[in-house]
Amino acid sequence: MPEKTIFTNRRSEIAGVPVARLAEEFGTPLYVYDAAKIKERIADLAMFDTVRYAQKACSSLAILKLVRKAGAAVDAVSAMEIRRAVAAGWPVTAEKPEDPDPIVYTADIFDRDALDLIAGEYPVHVNCGSMDMIWQLGQRAPGREITLRLNPGFGHGHSQKTNTGGDQSKHGIWHEDLMRAIELASHFDLKVKGLHMHIGSGTDLEHLATVCEAMDRAGLAAGPRISVISCGGGLPVPYDNSGEYVDLAAYYKIWREKLDLLAKVYRHPIRLEIEPGRYIVAESGYLVSEIRAVKNQGGNLFYLADAGFNNLARPVMYGSHHPISVAGPSADAPEADVIVGGPLCESGDIFTQKEGGYVEKRRLPKAEVGDYLVFEVAGAYGFMMGSNYNSKPLAAEVLIEDGVPRLIRKRQSFSDLISCEVE
Ligand SMILES: *Cc1c(COP(=O)(O)O)cnc(C)c1O
Repeated sequence: MPEKTIFTNRRSEIAGVPVARLAEEFGTPLYVYDAAKIKERIADLAMFDTVRYAQKACSSLAILKLVRKAGAAVDAVSAMEIRRAVAAGWPVTAEKPEDPDPIVYTADIFDRDALDLIAGEYPVHVNCGSMDMIWQLGQRAPGREITLRLNPGFGHGHSQKTNTGGDQSKHGIWHEDLMRAIELASHFDLKVKGLHMHIGSGTDLEHLATVCEAMDRAGLAAGPRISVISCGGGLPVPYDNSGEYVDLAAYYKIWREKLDLLAKVYRHPIRLEIEPGRYIVAESGYLVSEIRAVKNQGGNLFYLADAGFNNLARPVMYGSHHPISVAGPSADAPEADVIVGGPLCESGDIFTQKEGGYVEKRRLPKAEVGDYLVFEVAGAYGFMMGSNYNSKPLAAEVLIEDGVPRLIRKRQSFSDLISCEVE
């Protein structure tokens, strides 16, 4: 298990580079990634037969290339994510049939461009999350191998927005429909070679045992055609000092023992894939912003930064907690209770809020305009959920490798912003 980071509310550097230098050289708001952390997290998962990176967490090309060179395969959830994977250098299909599929398209639907791409130019492996996907792929590309994403009938998410199983979830093929799905597939000569569940485990190994039971039942029902099982993503990372990692060795062991039983019954090995997004990139990412106003409103102290929910949407969407630190001349100042907001003309543009929009205060050094605020553990679902709301350009991104920062995405210019518009 990785060593836990202790978060403090003061910081001077990121991966050995002073925050002020990054801000001056590249401007703010700025996403900064530490390459070493991404490599470490992939290495943590080396016991799995395949680590498949769920790129939706952070799919900038330089990050994808780094992940590919570290030995991971990749997951894509849209046509453009397939194109990104190919652009980052993954082959479209495996060289040898026993090799893992380099790219897997996992979704509950094919939008038309994804189906066209997969049936034509880029015949990547498909993990089907609905009967309609089997039907549609079968008509366009009979004879392919597929895997099935199952909804085991229960889930494990902390809110409706993150729950990925159960009868309130839109995801996966309902567990009772498994045999019907296999029949439908064979009608088109689609070969079901594996099963997939993405439930999200949290740190709760007891819950994981229930997931494994469900997978075992499904694996037995599906029969010896099964040669690969994916346990999905959902590995947690600590977002504060009380957060925990899951015990990876125990997690792996629970899955491996179940799959070994299946392998014995079927007399062939079964490959175990894991498919994390957050675990691989969350801790590598920092959103650096500059404080542009300090306000006292009826006894409440506000820091307003130049980054808002157009740059980091998780606090507004889910009430997610991100560690915040101050860098700059005031980093040594005494502390105060602060509400941290962004620049948007929207009262909800507050970083320090809980689920339901309840505003919280954060203990931070007494800062001034010109100090920097760093939002930490922001590498997953950070830049990617950014928007152009208020005509704010998407932030720039920098990757630090061996102490050297490198621009991997330019800040959008005005002409980038309006490039698709027609007057
Ligand atoms: C989003 C997603 C993941 C990654 O989830 P994390 O919580 O980031 O690990 C994995 N698999 C599928 C199918 C997903 O949709």
